Amino acid sequence: MAVSDALAGLDPAQLEAVEHGEGPLVVAAGAGTGKTRVLTARVARLLEAGVVPERILLLTFTRRVASAMLSRAAVMCGDAQAAQRIAGGTFHAVAHRIIAEHAQHLGLEDVTVIDPDDVIDLIDLLRAEHGLDGTEVRLPTTRTIADIASRAINTQTPARAVIEEQFPWALEHVDAIAGLLRHYRDRKRERGLLDLDDLLIAWRALVADPDVGARLRARWDWVLVDEYQDVNQLQVDIVRGLSPDGRGLTVVGDDAQAIYAFRGASAGHLLELIEAYPDATLVRLERNFRSTQPILDLANQVRPGELRLRLVADRPQPGVRPTLVTCRNADDEARTIADRILAAHVDGTPLRSQAVLMRTGSHSAQLEVELKVRAIPFHKFGGIGYLETSHVRDLLATFRVVLNPADEVSWYRLLTRHRAIGKASARGLAGILADGGVDRAADAVAAAPAKARTGLASTLSLLGAVDSTTAIPELVETCRGAVDPLLRAHYPDWHRRVTEVDGIAQAAAQQSDLRMFVSEQAIDPVNVAGDWAKQPHLDEDRLTLSTIHSAKGLEWDAVHLLRANDGAMPSDMALSSRVGLAEEERLFYVALTRARDTLDVYVPSQLPTHPTAFMAKHVAAKPSRFLTESARALMESVSTAAVTPEPAIERAVATRRVRMDEFDELFA
Ligand code: ATP
Ligand code: MG
Repeated sequence: MAVSDALAGLDPAQLEAVEHGEGPLVVAAGAGTGKTRVLTARVARLLEAGVVPERILLLTFTRRVASAMLSRAAVMCGDAQAAQRIAGGTFHAVAHRIIAEHAQHLGLEDVTVIDPDDVIDLIDLLRAEHGLDGTEVRLPTTRTIADIASRAINTQTPARAVIEEQFPWALEHVDAIAGLLRHYRDRKRERGLLDLDDLLIAWRALVADPDVGARLRARWDWVLVDEYQDVNQLQVDIVRGLSPDGRGLTVVGDDAQAIYAFRGASAGHLLELIEAYPDATLVRLERNFRSTQPILDLANQVRPGELRLRLVADRPQPGVRPTLVTCRNADDEARTIADRILAAHVDGTPLRSQAVLMRTGSHSAQLEVELKVRAIPFHKFGGIGYLETSHVRDLLATFRVVLNPADEVSWYRLLTRHRAIGKASARGLAGILADGGVDRAADAVAAAPAKARTGLASTLSLLGAVDSTTAIPELVETCRGAVDPLLRAHYPDWHRRVTEVDGIAQAAAQQSDLRMFVSEQAIDPVNVAGDWAKQPHLDEDRLTLSTIHSAKGLEWDAVHLLRANDGAMPSDMALSSRVGLAEEERLFYVALTRARDTLDVYVPSQLPTHPTAFMAKHVAAKPSRFLTESARALMESVSTAAVTPEPAIERAVATRRVRMDEFDELFA
């Protein structure tokens, strides 16, 4: 395929954006109008025009979107290798690569990235060290403290102001919190650790440095950013620092889809950018190529945002109205969704073209059980809990202590996996090992509780056989062997987790740079639970379950929106604030605009008092306030109330798909 073929299908406004020259370009347009497609075509066009791929930087919000864009661009310009050489990925992933290259400028020897759970562990560790974990001083939870730090950094607001505004009840502890966060910063420095926010801070510092910044600016002629409405102040500074005059800069976004205010994003950044570059060209796209008109009518009814663009469908088919499905309760909702998914499947919509979207990962608890009972394969993105990935993270922690023995949080993690080591002794031992690595194995063993000594000595002697210079396959094999007994002892359902651990070990063994790989897992953990896990069946037709946040920028033929109730969507945490509610409304809008052909919105009349407790009491639940009178008027209403449910066991048997995989196993 030539780029000209790809361009032939674009409408005039899209084409204008693709063919635009060097001046700053802002494409502000609604969902499904082809912003991402324009960006992709622009990349292909640049490659075709002979731009050296390394001189293009493409920033996106998820790794999935980045790789989809690059492979599309490769098809368009017919040069897969060129597309691979483009610097592309999420802000955090690109930051990590830049930082690794410039570690010496930042005074770092190595870069180890810690994920949000490690942050909690490390702050907990420091609380204990400084006597701030007791009951005498009632500080907020560690999660809240980490949240305060992250908000302060991402919005570039003093921590005191963040506390005053968002956590006023914690004001009396402002000094203690600030002190703790200073310890946290110092300890990260000492141990060579960077958290996700540090990645952006460090990248910004490099860009702001006169010498390094000049080199970075000279490196890329073309900077393209998708989903600009969701950048925060640090990211704005990076983008503007890389392109002070806006030459070669293209950003696309939609202010109605800004859903990261809680992480410091402000939809205003899109408008600010237009003001910051007086010679910027603003292109608006009007036609929606994704959804049918009835779906857009509903989305327009909800559409928030300042630009208030209305979407008009370009699709020729008239389309069916979105359905409002009222169910009895959460179990009934799960059954009904499964029924409707299978019905759509029979009508020709494969599972891979369908998605169930939800406000919060835990909302799909009942549905996941139902899907398992009916053997409907699915994969889940976003909202992946600690439990599902912790075994994978244990293996990664083992790699990390070998690569960077000063990594105290990873030692702590591994030590707490030993049966006889409690949190307090794990903290002490982690300190010893982080100071001297396995060279201090004897000291650590001596300091360990008597019952734990043999186990600990064995772990440390296994790990002592490798270091960062060991060949990667051997290093991985050794770590796998060292962590194995810990996992078996720690997780009662160990056998269920083993495929995932094997999957990640195999992937790790094939890396040319293990350090990079390990840090990337901290940056984008979706991969850990999703992509690496070995699939149980060769059946590639899988349904997607996703949080709305993780569904950003994506689309499906059939979208099932789970639990559109007040308290779920909008989330009850947002009900009390106007700003919070506005963000929930944009989130709702993002959900609606993911659908191409059909959109089903599910509203149970009763919900359990706790989302994941199966025996929890049910109480009456209200439909989401976003489903206003006028919104409902645009929908087809159905209710399951009239149907008598079959007893669960009958249903399970009637719908069970019998699999014959045993046969394959026996004859493999
Ligand atoms: P979002 O705001 O949700 O990220 P978007 O503006 O980035 O949406 P795209 O994902 O680029 O929109 O495009 C939406 C859909 O419309 C995609 O399937 C895309 O391939 C298709 N599309 C875009 N432009 C055209 C066109 N000119 N002709 C046909 N299909 C198009
Ligand atoms: Mg997009």
